[in-house]
Amino acid sequence: MRDLGAALDKRREAGLYRRRRVADSRQQPEMVVDGERLLCFTSNDYLGLAAHPGVIEAFRRAATEWGVGAGAAHLVNGHMRVHHALEEALADFTGRPRALLFSTGYMANLGVVGALCGRGDTVLQDRLNHASLLDAARLSGARLKRHAHRDMAALERQLADAEGECLIASDGVFSMDGDVAPLAEMAALARTSAAWLMVDDAHGFGVLGPQGRGSVAAAGLGVDDVPILMATLGKALGVAGAFVAADEALIETLIQRARTYIYTTAQPPALAAATLAALKVARNEDWRRERLRELVARFRAGAGQLGLPLMDSATPIQPLIAGGAERAMRWSESLRRRGILVGAMRPPTVAEGSARLRVTFSAMHREDQVDRLLDALAEAVRCA
Ligand SMILES: *Cc1c(COP(=O)(O)O)cnc(C)c1O
Repeated sequence: MRDLGAALDKRREAGLYRRRRVADSRQQPEMVVDGERLLCFTSNDYLGLAAHPGVIEAFRRAATEWGVGAGAAHLVNGHMRVHHALEEALADFTGRPRALLFSTGYMANLGVVGALCGRGDTVLQDRLNHASLLDAARLSGARLKRHAHRDMAALERQLADAEGECLIASDGVFSMDGDVAPLAEMAALARTSAAWLMVDDAHGFGVLGPQGRGSVAAAGLGVDDVPILMATLGKALGVAGAFVAADEALIETLIQRARTYIYTTAQPPALAAATLAALKVARNEDWRRERLRELVARFRAGAGQLGLPLMDSATPIQPLIAGGAERAMRWSESLRRRGILVGAMRPPTVAEGSARLRVTFSAMHREDQVDRLLDALAEAVRCA
């Protein structure tokens, strides 16, 4: 039996220890966290919908009408009219024939890859893909090959060597770097190799493209180019869950085969109702995306002037590279002393030597709050 205490101590010494903070307020820029009032640049609630009054009201009304739990899996009798209506709205919004709800993004990724690939097949992935896509490939039993970040020449070589069914899977917007995948090139490679292409748009959905349709729509691509679109509902949409949008045959295949769809309780119907309300706001209120663009531009201009180590990102995910894990921790502690919360991302979430602060913006942030962040960052980087 391993000495767990010693292993935890070692982790602490390496600056890799993870701990939870307890929040005493709803998700918004100014929160009480561990008893402290903090200005937060940490959430994925990009459009500010997690505590939107209309979304809350939809949730409340639906709980009254439908009860709390779905009580059964979708294939038993837990698939309620609101779940079904949300699937139809998501299919319409993404311009695809069908959509299928999953309880979480993690489960959607496991479900899709496992339904399409198994032993003897090949899954090709960007090295910086989300952990759930990597785990999905491992669990499927297919051969997993990873290539360097955004390296399409490497992907092309891997495609030439692929055996069996081949699935290319990529984040649309990379969650730790904030940059966008070269989707058009990927789609062209997938087409010439007759490989599946799956895009996980957890961070692009609601944020990029016309009306927030996501990174695939922003690249001008449709269901023929990217047959499998997955996105989550707990980030820009501010609720919870995920969906896959695709053609009829693919969705029906998932219903028959995706184990994380079949063997789990349907999400509470009120979540689906809240998501429907959030989707309407996300779709109709372009000012939220405009606001995000302004805040990001202000931050990047200010950070550039201060010489902060910005990465090449145009999305609300704006990482600042620290290098070592301890340095990233010192920076984030310095910010916290000034009343600002920013996440320090360390290995194994990011590669060794690329620990960073992950700054994220929400349409609810104000300009003076961005300026406060910049002042605190200048101080943090100078002193630590
Ligand atoms: C958050 C995230 C997921 C997981 O989604 P959950 O609904 O939180 O389980 C999957 N992929 C990416 C790229 C993510 O950022």
